Amino acid sequence: MKIEDVALKYALLNAKQYGKANEDAVIKKILAELPEMKENIKKIIEIVRKVVGDVNSLSEEEVEKKILELNISEVKKEEKKEILPDLPDAEYGKVVMRLAPFPSGPLHIGNARMVILNDYYVKRYKGKLILFYDDTIGSEEKPIDKDAYDLIRDGLEWLGVEYHEVLYKSDRLEIYYKYAADLIKLGRVYVCTCEKEEIQKNRRLGVECSCRSRSIEENLDLFQKMIDGKIPEGKAVVRLKTDMKHPNPAFRDRVLLRICEREHPRVGKNYRVWPMLEFSWAIDDYLIGTTHILRGKELTIEDMMEEYIWEIFGWKKAKFIHYGLLRLKEEGAKLSKSKTRKMIERGEIRGWDDPRTWSLQSLRKRGFQPEAIRNFILKLGLSETDVTLPVDILYAENRKIIDKIANRYFAVLNPVKISIDYDIKKVMIKYHPDFPERGLREVFVNPSEIYIEKEDFEKFKGSDVVLIGMFTVRLNEVSRFISNEILEETPKIHWVSYPNVKIKIVMPNGSEREAIAEDGVKELKEGDIVQFYRIGFCRLDDKKSFTFYFAHK
Ligand SMILES: [Zn+2]
Repeated sequence: MKIEDVALKYALLNAKQYGKANEDAVIKKILAELPEMKENIKKIIEIVRKVVGDVNSLSEEEVEKKILELNISEVKKEEKKEILPDLPDAEYGKVVMRLAPFPSGPLHIGNARMVILNDYYVKRYKGKLILFYDDTIGSEEKPIDKDAYDLIRDGLEWLGVEYHEVLYKSDRLEIYYKYAADLIKLGRVYVCTCEKEEIQKNRRLGVECSCRSRSIEENLDLFQKMIDGKIPEGKAVVRLKTDMKHPNPAFRDRVLLRICEREHPRVGKNYRVWPMLEFSWAIDDYLIGTTHILRGKELTIEDMMEEYIWEIFGWKKAKFIHYGLLRLKEEGAKLSKSKTRKMIERGEIRGWDDPRTWSLQSLRKRGFQPEAIRNFILKLGLSETDVTLPVDILYAENRKIIDKIANRYFAVLNPVKISIDYDIKKVMIKYHPDFPERGLREVFVNPSEIYIEKEDFEKFKGSDVVLIGMFTVRLNEVSRFISNEILEETPKIHWVSYPNVKIKIVMPNGSEREAIAEDGVKELKEGDIVQFYRIGFCRLDDKKSFTFYFAHK
């Protein structure tokens, strides 16, 4: 459907309902139906202005008649069907959700699901989204990276995620201590001073240790000693009295807090007792009023722990909604953040935005549009099954959007030089054959210096080809002019003449390819996305060195 038709449909329906059509209302409807058109908002405004003007000059009867004529049904006026199910017990305006990134690196395509689903539901229910950095101390294997805080925010903003508040676990240690002490006073937790191996063994056998019967006073005293640094790391933990006979051994008297002497990138060495994530969440989800928690379906222990603690305090429980893992069938997409960090430190990759990281920053660099990632995730829905998808599905979503904005240019990867026996100085070529309204560009031609792909030369040598935008030649080192006529069956090949520009294209596997591009690329700005014939979509990243990043075919 053409955009003019969509505009007319909504203008007519709007006029029928309110007497006169309203430009803003029509624009909103168009964008709801065709979100990708946001890219062309100026054009839409122009069209809508005209269409609304036309419709508002019609009489009521004429509007009615047109609606019938065009067979626009009222049904279509209904709101778009939501792709995702309702949240259980969600009240409009009262939903509170949180994003809980662990700052070990920027957000990665694998994190996009968690982020977009939360944002989607909060927007759908006009609720509140809290960006809550999950930055307890982490571990040796998975340390916090202090740059990750900003990288995460940058990625969220790029994705169009709207959060309303930012919180850090590392600011809230005193809060966790207070609630831990409350639990001690309730006799529900204890300080365990057993060795790690003994704890594990007891858990396996379902045996309680003698620490479990310590008095409240004793526990409070030991807990204070942990906080004050009077007990060394590894010598005491705070454990929750769940049940040492619980059928799930992992749930037997779980650890809530432990001592860790490592320095924290935000709060340094101010604290040495750190909560386990699930304990901190049990407290925080209550304190911030979380209503719904979207969580990977493998995190059932976390659910159990939160519920257990909420029950002790008699707190209102949030709802859990689970979803399956999303993996991309693409070698590089498996890179872990800690592995990536090591590679950056060793200078093996360019940085957090190297295409091999699959970070949001790297996707942005390649010319991915946030809307494409959002569409990709939302179409997957909220299923609990793990999905492994070919990366082509993501590419297809992006192509739908960038095809509408990218112009086509010539670039040749493996040049073979030919000449043509025809005097020609320049040609005019469409910026995009499917979008003639984008106009023409002038491409200079030097008949004695034409570069074509080696592959084309070998394949078509001696036969007729069309040099796109020029004419038909018989292809050879010296190619002979055949005709200005362009026959459909004649193969069409791209070319570059003189002047031209040497460009670099960074590929998804990190390698760099060199090419010669037509002089026209000089008119591009950094960030522009183009489509090079046969190569694919690329984004100009650095104009000084003419470095492009390859997006996809
Ligand atoms: Zn013990």
